[in-house]
Amino acid sequence: MTKRLIFLGPPGAGKGTQAERICKIRNLLHLSTGDLLRAEVTAATSLGKEAEDLMNKGELVSDEIVLSIVEKKLLLANQGWLLDGFPRNVSQAESLGTLLEKVSQPIDLVILLEIDDEVLVERLIARGRADDNEKVIRNRLLVYREKTSPLINYYTKLGILTSVQARGNVEDISELIEEKIG
Ligand code: ADP
Repeated sequence: MTKRLIFLGPPGAGKGTQAERICKIRNLLHLSTGDLLRAEVTAATSLGKEAEDLMNKGELVSDEIVLSIVEKKLLLANQGWLLDGFPRNVSQAESLGTLLEKVSQPIDLVILLEIDDEVLVERLIARGRADDNEKVIRNRLLVYREKTSPLINYYTKLGILTSVQARGNVEDISELIEEKIG
């Protein structure tokens, strides 16, 4: 059955890893705004140049940039999808809602990956991406708390949020997520 899913959770919760696994099993389109933005940076497009500084500081890039990327991909999708890293604030969630209403593609489920801060920082430092030094990580956690975590309430009110404990081994967490998706 076609599914339209969103992964929510702090940086380092394992959204990317789990998204890849779930999308493979269920043949969903994996849309990671982080990956898409990094591809723009690598290709040195004008969009990538605009995004790079903000990403390296752990700040969000503009809603306009992110929306233009997501919109293009979603409108082309002829299968279910999983959004990973988007929406990241209430304004992005509202824009997404408007877009999905227009194309009659409601969200089935928002899955919150929950995990303690200490585990997050450890995991991110171990990963060692360009924006994974401790100072930037702390900022990304702050930005998550301020801008992204209000989405927990937003989607709870819409009655489509469910949570999964994201501590433990990758396979077990995938199984928990699979159960929730049903
Ligand atoms: P993580 O999963 O560790 O938070 P991502 O790969 O999702 O990292 O994102 C890395 C960076 O890309 C973010 O810190 C931010 O600068 C930018 N970014 C990704 N998605 C968005 C978005 N939806 N809105 C604004 N900025 C974004």
